[in-house]
Amino acid sequence: MAKYVYSFGKDGTDGDATMKNLLGGKGANLAEMAKIGLPVPSGFTITTDVCTYYYANGRNYPPELQGQVEEAMKKIEATMGKKFGDTNALPLLVSCRSGARESMPGMMDTVLNIGLNDKTVEVLAQKSGDERFAWDCYRRFVQMYGDVVLDMKPKDKTDIDPFEEILEAKKKKAGVKLDSELKPEHLKELVTEFKAAVKKQTGHDFPEDPMEQVWGGIGAVFGSWMNDRAIVYRRTYGIPHEWGTAVNVQAMVFGNMGEACATGVALTRNGATGEKGITGDYLINAQGEDVVAGIRMPKKIEDSLGKDMPKSWEEFQKVAMILENHYKDIQDIEFTIENQKLWMLQTRNAKRTGFAAVRAAVDMVNEGLITPEMAISRIPANDVTQLLQPIFGGAGLKGKTPLTKGINAGPGAATGQICFQPEDAEAIWQKDNSAKLILVRASTTPEDLRGMKVAQGILTSSGGAASHAALVSRQMGKACVCGCDAIEINYKAETMSVGGKTFKKGDWISVDGFTGNVYEGQVPTSPSEVLQVLFTKELKPKDAPLYQCFQQLMSWSDRFRKLGVRTNADNPQEAGRAIALGAEGIGLTRTEHMFFDRIDDFRAMILSENVAEREKALEPLLKYQQADFEGIFREMKGRPVTIRLLDPPLHEFVPHTDHEQEELSQKLSIPKGKIAQRVNELHEENPMLGHRGCRLGIVYPEITRMQATAIFQAAVDVMKDGIDCHPEIMIPLVGNITEFRNQEAIIRAAAAEVFKKAGVTVDYLIGTMIELPRACVTADRVAEGAEFFSFGTNDLTQTGLGISRDDYGSFINDYQEKDIFPADPFQTLDQEGVGGLMKIGVKKGRSTRPDIKLGICGEHGGDPASVKFCHGLGLNYVSCSPLRLPVARLAAAQAAIAEKKEKAEKCCKESCGCDCCQGGCSCCSCCPCGCQSGKSCCCK
Ligand code: PEP
Ligand code: MG
Repeated sequence: MAKYVYSFGKDGTDGDATMKNLLGGKGANLAEMAKIGLPVPSGFTITTDVCTYYYANGRNYPPELQGQVEEAMKKIEATMGKKFGDTNALPLLVSCRSGARESMPGMMDTVLNIGLNDKTVEVLAQKSGDERFAWDCYRRFVQMYGDVVLDMKPKDKTDIDPFEEILEAKKKKAGVKLDSELKPEHLKELVTEFKAAVKKQTGHDFPEDPMEQVWGGIGAVFGSWMNDRAIVYRRTYGIPHEWGTAVNVQAMVFGNMGEACATGVALTRNGATGEKGITGDYLINAQGEDVVAGIRMPKKIEDSLGKDMPKSWEEFQKVAMILENHYKDIQDIEFTIENQKLWMLQTRNAKRTGFAAVRAAVDMVNEGLITPEMAISRIPANDVTQLLQPIFGGAGLKGKTPLTKGINAGPGAATGQICFQPEDAEAIWQKDNSAKLILVRASTTPEDLRGMKVAQGILTSSGGAASHAALVSRQMGKACVCGCDAIEINYKAETMSVGGKTFKKGDWISVDGFTGNVYEGQVPTSPSEVLQVLFTKELKPKDAPLYQCFQQLMSWSDRFRKLGVRTNADNPQEAGRAIALGAEGIGLTRTEHMFFDRIDDFRAMILSENVAEREKALEPLLKYQQADFEGIFREMKGRPVTIRLLDPPLHEFVPHTDHEQEELSQKLSIPKGKIAQRVNELHEENPMLGHRGCRLGIVYPEITRMQATAIFQAAVDVMKDGIDCHPEIMIPLVGNITEFRNQEAIIRAAAAEVFKKAGVTVDYLIGTMIELPRACVTADRVAEGAEFFSFGTNDLTQTGLGISRDDYGSFINDYQEKDIFPADPFQTLDQEGVGGLMKIGVKKGRSTRPDIKLGICGEHGGDPASVKFCHGLGLNYVSCSPLRLPVARLAAAQAAIAEKKEKAEKCCKESCGCDCCQGGCSCCSCCPCGCQSGKSCCCK
């Protein structure tokens, strides 16, 4: 019989931490904590297989489930020494929570205090000796169950929550401000009124049967896997919809049963900065949701739990360290203290900013807790870009006094216009993707996710470092300042007031997620610490601890990666910066970019009417280009430099408006009519598939000749100065070997002429961009001539998918929302389609030129998933913009480490057939049981 339910607790645990796919992160970790003897209230996990079954079978469960759940409930009763629905002794109450493979904080539903009804509440009141506590639990339960299970939650911001309406009316009548001031009789009345609201809205009585309540909770949690915010979250973080969630049913313990009780969340290291030491929030006499919801201002664990509850604090620190050492990662822990007894409710690897990810990983290697491979593998490669983002500081802050200061929950500097409603933020952003917004809220909830995604920064007036706003913005890498209690927000008037000043929606503010400071207006930024060391040299490495961590991580990455990393750079300054960030060469110089500063001379060339005129117009361009190339070669000091010949359609460079044509006519002394006529001639219906790429050099060979001559003369001059130089000349948009041969002949002739004149030869290569499906399919023929290929995946995506790179904005959002494309194919490689074409290109190219040099220079060269794919293809290098280089270095190392691990696992299984070193060893010779002796090692 299939096993759908896994129990955990001190009397026996079925699962463990390795079973995340089946038990979800929460379930697997609860099982693991129970297994290593930590105090976990017992419970059980219903597997993700049930979720899959549920959706595949019209929201029904497998027939075996009911019996397995009932059995598991009995186990909880036995371990906890309480009975579910007991009307004589203290009854067992349970919670029902979601738990997917990857944590999705707050996105799915939870129901607490299941098992309460009109009878058990009386027993709870009597046996706990606290009538208020019992009735408060009951009214919270009816409200939560009504919202979550009976679907009474407001559907949009204009809807009224019936429970909140009743609660507000009750507080008004009772003359109190806070929920906690309500007396037991008020709470009793509330329960009756809540239940009446349930009956009115659903037509049914509120369920009194505890088992019916449990099944209601289970159904609601499985159902919440497909709610809108969970779907948006999965799309944002690339979590497959097929994974499904597990459901955890667990005995309740109470942090709200008096002053000897508390509840809290804590991180073993700071999730914003990575600094070592426990940080977190707790509340005395409260339930867990109160802490993360950001409604009551929590206390800081590190500041006062030791004073409030010294024994529990001591035990908590011990358990926290056990967990961090056990999981070898920063732990995010939920706990409850019930009458001085500590209970662990959850542990998971903490969400963290890029800063914290890098710092903690490097520190943990230095502490001997993890290996460099582990450090590299666990940092999301894109997160390292956070370390290069601008910060507030230096001159930008001169004369600026902070308006107020909150908790520095998510590092980064953000300047933007105030926006109070997440829906408004999303609407503004959809109209203008460059809009800079700061989302200002009292606190955030999972409903606000869409708004948080498009905002530059988040500012909240309540909630601590573990509030929803803090957690989510850290994960998104957004600047976040929370708990600014000096700020008063008036949603209705769309204003916020602080320090005697009032700000309206649309006013500019700046938030500093490093310091927690909030400033009026737009604060100019300065370069990050890393770039102050590498680019501006304002800081010395020894004074820059963040830089030191960054550099350490990069040097480990370089040790493991097999892919080379190059940069796309068009001038010496970019080239120099790229070298500082680890570039080993240039993978793409777009020569047309060099004309931007001399646009009129370039236009004169385009406007030429015959070869003689064009050759004349090319003369000044030759000088410019030669000087530019020389600068780049000098900067690159012998590293390979790939230079692409002119590529874009010429009409992109000519003036189109009457006024611009008039201006140009005066500058170049060419009649305006002539200019207008040439511009007309150059017009194309579909320029990206028109006269561009090598087609330009074929029709105007003098352009190719000029560019090749400029490259070789620059190289010769640099060589004469004793600087090594390796130009790689790249012909764009080749689809046919005949195109390549045509251009190759011109380039070789130019080289021969320059070398002869100078008496110096330069080692150079001629290759091509692979940007057309035809080039991939005929790559064997193309490689007969081309000495290297560089996959231009911007155009290869455009031509392979038949989607214009300039026009896809109008439908890509719909494509992603409707799950037609998992990602934007111009950002992350379509591995199946475009990647399939690349595979053909690589295989065929190598078939005729086995040592052909292979690279990629499209935008995908700096995208982690695409870099991993390129590693798998066996390319020689990836090339990306300078600031993406750290991402590429890290992603390339991750790919190499993952491959090594996969090989080792496969080798262990296939070669020696044992399971003892699964995933653990790096080669067969270290298989701990030695059972493979005599067998060959396949993973080297
Ligand atoms: C490409 O097409 O991938 C490429 C790098 O060239 P460009 O973006 O200049 O067309
Ligand atoms: Mg291209």
